[in-house]
Amino acid sequence: MNRQFCVIGNPIAHSISPKLHNLAYKRLDICANYSRVLLDDESSLKNTIFGYKLNGANITVPFKESAFKICDEIKGIAKEIKAINTIVNKDGKLTGFNTDAPGFLKSIEEFDSIKNVLILGAGGTARALSIILKHSGFNVVVVNRSHGRFDFFKAQGFTTFTHEDNLPDNFDLIINTTPAGLKDSNLPLPLHKLDQISKHARYGYDVVYNIKTPFLRFCNERNIKNKDGLEMLLYQAVLAFDIFFDNKYNKSDITNAMKDVFLL
Ligand code: NDP
Repeated sequence: MNRQFCVIGNPIAHSISPKLHNLAYKRLDICANYSRVLLDDESSLKNTIFGYKLNGANITVPFKESAFKICDEIKGIAKEIKAINTIVNKDGKLTGFNTDAPGFLKSIEEFDSIKNVLILGAGGTARALSIILKHSGFNVVVVNRSHGRFDFFKAQGFTTFTHEDNLPDNFDLIINTTPAGLKDSNLPLPLHKLDQISKHARYGYDVVYNIKTPFLRFCNERNIKNKDGLEMLLYQAVLAFDIFFDNKYNKSDITNAMKDVFLL
């Protein structure tokens, strides 16, 4: 039976998820198809999944929190993050997962001796990363330009600061989860503040992929080892695939198949 999957978001044309999953189906000889759906309105999310008779879907910006609300059951760390990027549809029952968080964690395996982490931004991605980092024993501080989204982090026991506050400077790893620099030349924090917080930083990470952001350029100029979000994207896809197919395939085979997308 040909199984149907897709990624749902807005915008969606840029998503490389169809390429990742379809190449893995081809390489692993699986009869399935993965497409993309542009959704105008969160209220039609559930109908889209049922209307297209999807066996599963990935959910991307800006619907991850709405997706959390439409699921009948939530598994694992997604319960705390309160946002999901992976839905499985089994006989009309929707189960939600978050693979962004473990995907990110896998992508920083090579970073050694990390203790104190600073997350720039307080949106959905910051939530996912802060929770998984806390679970893994890291000290996490969140810095955002405004107060508006701090309730979630405060309730989880994280220390939060705005750009106006006096910021600590003891961070080993700084993660940018803001879209600053994506369509402009802005840093996620004013330069003098970024210089101050990164005094002892050994690693920098930007969740945005395939673009040298001003933040990553800043890291290069300060000799801070850094990487973008491409591996996070890859590993969240591998983990979603693994969930879609009930852990039937070897994870390294899935990873190797998907990795080839970047070489094509
Ligand atoms: P959200 O819109 O939920 O949050 C964005 C955050 O960034 C907010 O806290 C916002 O602050 C802050 N912000 C926005 N613009 C600026 C700016 N110019 N300067 C400083 N702060 C700013 O976004 P998400 O968390 O959902 O996504 C963030 C990015 O992560 C996206 O670009 C997305 O593509 C990427 N991503 C990558 C993944 C991967 O696999 N590599 C996976 C998931 C996401 P305020 O609260 O004041 O508005």
